[in-house]
Amino acid sequence: MPNDIQSLLLALTVSMLTMAVALPAVMGQVNAAARRAQAGVALQALGWVLLLLSGVVQADSMADRLLSTLSMFGITGGLALNATAFDLWCGRAAHARMPMLIALVMPVGYGLGFSSYAFRVGWANGLLALQMALVAAPLIRKPAVPVGRWRWLLVVALLAQMVVTAWRGVLGGFFTADFPAFLWPHPVNFVFAMVANATAVLSLAGILLAHRDEAARALERLATLDGLTGVLNRRAWLLQANTEMEVSTRYNHPLAVLMIDLDYFKQINDSRGHEAGDRALQFVAKALQAAVRSGDLVGRYGGEEFCVLMNHADAAAASAFDRRMRMYLTDAAPRELGCGLSYSAGIAMRTSANDTLAAMLRRADAMLYAAKAQGRACTLDAQGLQLQRF
Ligand code: GH3
Ligand code: MG
Ligand code: MG
Repeated sequence: MPNDIQSLLLALTVSMLTMAVALPAVMGQVNAAARRAQAGVALQALGWVLLLLSGVVQADSMADRLLSTLSMFGITGGLALNATAFDLWCGRAAHARMPMLIALVMPVGYGLGFSSYAFRVGWANGLLALQMALVAAPLIRKPAVPVGRWRWLLVVALLAQMVVTAWRGVLGGFFTADFPAFLWPHPVNFVFAMVANATAVLSLAGILLAHRDEAARALERLATLDGLTGVLNRRAWLLQANTEMEVSTRYNHPLAVLMIDLDYFKQINDSRGHEAGDRALQFVAKALQAAVRSGDLVGRYGGEEFCVLMNHADAAAASAFDRRMRMYLTDAAPRELGCGLSYSAGIAMRTSANDTLAAMLRRADAMLYAAKAQGRACTLDAQGLQLQRF
């Protein structure tokens, strides 16, 4: 078999450059993860170009040191950038602190110790292998959001690269006579070049699939969340509320639904403008979202109507929530919006195992209607009992 390391690494560099150009074209720079992944690949491609260029200048010259050191920055920095993209795709904050640290320390040490071949090859490959392990580890850990199998493509690519890179480092650092030059036709160097080509293909597939996953999640968010307020839209709220209703019936937990309609909202639009109206809706949604317990559901039911499903809440808990909301709005709305804001509401409790969400919503709506008729700014429960008025 021909053992032409130079051609294999040239092919790798061409593949990386092609990826660097193709990825922004097919993915678009639509979000932070996409931008980081693209920048990471571009930086690695640049690193490989510089590394090959360093092979055509006078060996161990100043130009060789400069080009080689910069190439290390490209390769390790690109990988660290990619790691931050993987973090985002797994639903975590984009830190990748250790890979970032290695991306700084490795090229600096490499540049300083360049005159010793054994040191620079051992140091660079050893730290690169460690960096690959540190990039793979968070991908192996359970992601914070449901993701597809693409992460295993990246894990396989990283671990394969890690093994051959570490092997190369050990050869260069400790068995320098066996591996005295970058393009030396040692079997390990040949395997390294082959693996680098194969893993570039795996990484490309991994990145594209991860991006598709992210796009699918964004689409799902769009389909379930209300665009203006960020709470569940009516369809998603009904779907999730039905599930909660079933659970509550099965375990016989109390469950309450609060239906809210802002009072004289049209006047806010008419007197202060539609944008002020939008801000008021966002303000109310945020307040509701902050006040509910985890597991409760806030939804925008219609224009200026919101529904809250309260799990494990009896009538007293539901009216306590309502009281807290009213007090908060009375206090905060003039400060935050520059005008007062009140609402009328109806509360419905799950009454029996045969009760349905649709029936609860009808009862809550009837109470809401009655609250409006009573002069607004109040909440009525199923007994028609007036709970609160401000
Ligand atoms: P009531 O106390 O009887 O509920 O009076 P109201 O003015 O709140 O009720 P009405 O149903 O007459 O008006 C609701 C208003 O809500 C009319 C509509 O323009 C406004 N609205 C609905 N959706 C939006 C929105 O997304 N943004 C803004 N700014 N206004 C909205
Ligand atoms: Mg209304
Ligand atoms: Mg209204």
